Amino acid sequence: MSDQFDLIVIGAGPGGYVCAIRAAQLGMKVACVEKRATLGGTCLNVGCIPSKALLQSSENYHAVRHDFAAHGVIAGDVRFDLPKMMGHKDEVVTANTRGVEFLFKKNKVTWLKGEARFKTADTITVGTESYTARSIVIATGSESVPLPGVAIDETRIVTSTGAIALTQVPHHLVVIGGGYIGLELGSVWRRLGAEVTVVEFLDRLVPTMDGEIATAFQKILTKSGMKFRLGTKVTKADTAGEGVVLTLEPAAGGTPETLTADVVLVAIGRRAHTENLGLDAIGVTTDARGRVVTDAHFATNVKGIYAIGDVIAGPMLAHKAEEEGVALAEILAGQAGHVNYGAIPGVVYTWPEIASVGQTEEELKAAGIAYKVGKFPFMANGRARAMGDTDGFVKLLSDKATDRLLGAHIIGPDAGTIIAELVMAIEFGASAEDVARTSHAHPTLNEAVKEAALAVDGRALHI
Ligand SMILES: Cc1cc2nc3c(=O)[nH]c(=O)nc-3n(C[C@H](O)[C@H](O)[C@H](O)COP(=O)(O)OP(=O)(O)OC[C@H]3O[C@@H](n4cnc5c(N)ncnc54)[C@H](O)[C@@H]3O)c2cc1C
Repeated sequence: MSDQFDLIVIGAGPGGYVCAIRAAQLGMKVACVEKRATLGGTCLNVGCIPSKALLQSSENYHAVRHDFAAHGVIAGDVRFDLPKMMGHKDEVVTANTRGVEFLFKKNKVTWLKGEARFKTADTITVGTESYTARSIVIATGSESVPLPGVAIDETRIVTSTGAIALTQVPHHLVVIGGGYIGLELGSVWRRLGAEVTVVEFLDRLVPTMDGEIATAFQKILTKSGMKFRLGTKVTKADTAGEGVVLTLEPAAGGTPETLTADVVLVAIGRRAHTENLGLDAIGVTTDARGRVVTDAHFATNVKGIYAIGDVIAGPMLAHKAEEEGVALAEILAGQAGHVNYGAIPGVVYTWPEIASVGQTEEELKAAGIAYKVGKFPFMANGRARAMGDTDGFVKLLSDKATDRLLGAHIIGPDAGTIIAELVMAIEFGASAEDVARTSHAHPTLNEAVKEAALAVDGRALHI
């Protein structure tokens, strides 16, 4: 006889664990299956959290060496201790994953340890045990996309998981892929002294972000010493010798050349993870990219089976997965759960950071929507000057006829935190004028947002 639950969630990443907790809060008897030894999924174990710990540590080192003198702070012989830095990262990960374990206990969510596989539409197996539930949620996340001809060994040719655990600073790190994961981890190792070359198939970085922001971003990263080979593809990696010899070609094909690295990070994207789940046996539909197909209420084509997070369509972001987890739990409890995909921010945690919400200028043009633009540079913001962090700008896009905010794009210090007020503005359907008429504390970086909102109407005050 199998154990019975109201809800079984497969996968304890930000989508799955949040869904489990919210469902338990709403009175359901919930189990969450996780095959990893710790809870928290990709995000807490090998993604968001460890990468941000290393970004912070390496940024601290970089700031002491390069930025403190301008503030009159003279540091002596500044060095770093890589094992200690990695130890700090591991401690942060442990504190976070244990935190989820605590939350499961607090909310009486049963953690089923092991790999789940569908037996029937309402029953899964974990090891030799079977468990039945009225609803089952697939929240199995994603994995790195492999690159043909470039075999991962997680030592010399690594995914992001290997790149957050290198035991020494590479002399030359080649990052394949100019998306946020490659650029964040490339920044970490660049700050610690590696030569970093980014090879990108497209002719621009961060392809989903606003084009003007991407151009400014590339300039700033180039200033930091990062090198770029855009419009270029990697066709082969030869590991026979001491270094890894990559064969590069123009994206459209052409004369090959070689580039030697001691470590290669493959960061060309992530794909839905559904291996060994037994989806075929129960007939759950997946799309051409392997993602589980769902309707607007996260239901798959099989009654009682739902999916959320990286395993379904949409941006592969932890907070998107969390929103879906909460919305689905509420829908299952008979409430009106909903996710506003137009108000999901995206952040690149380099320095300066990039943050974006809503539509880009390219998207508005393609959709034929008439818009107004307001921009304000951090160079003209008092707080940014005091910090010595004047690179970048805020760019707001509003509807030409109604002034409703359609998009917000920031490159600059702490952009990932600044963007929150614009996410809120878009969520509430605010106009640029609403933001412009809101009092912003002085002197703060957020004043650049107010000024950009004023600039939409051609009346910025401090430029
Ligand atoms: C290096 C890196 C940095 C990132 N940084 C950010 C960031 O700064 N901000 C951001 O928003 N996002 C970031 N992301 C993306 C973020 O990690 C994902 O969007 C998020 O983790 C998706 O959550 P999820 O719950 O859908 O899946 P996941 O977090 O992938 O969790 C899925 C879980 O399911 C488990 N699982 C899979 N199959 C089974 C099975 N059959 N049985 C039991 N368990 C199973 C897996 O072990 C895993 O723990 C980053 C990702 C990487 C790789």
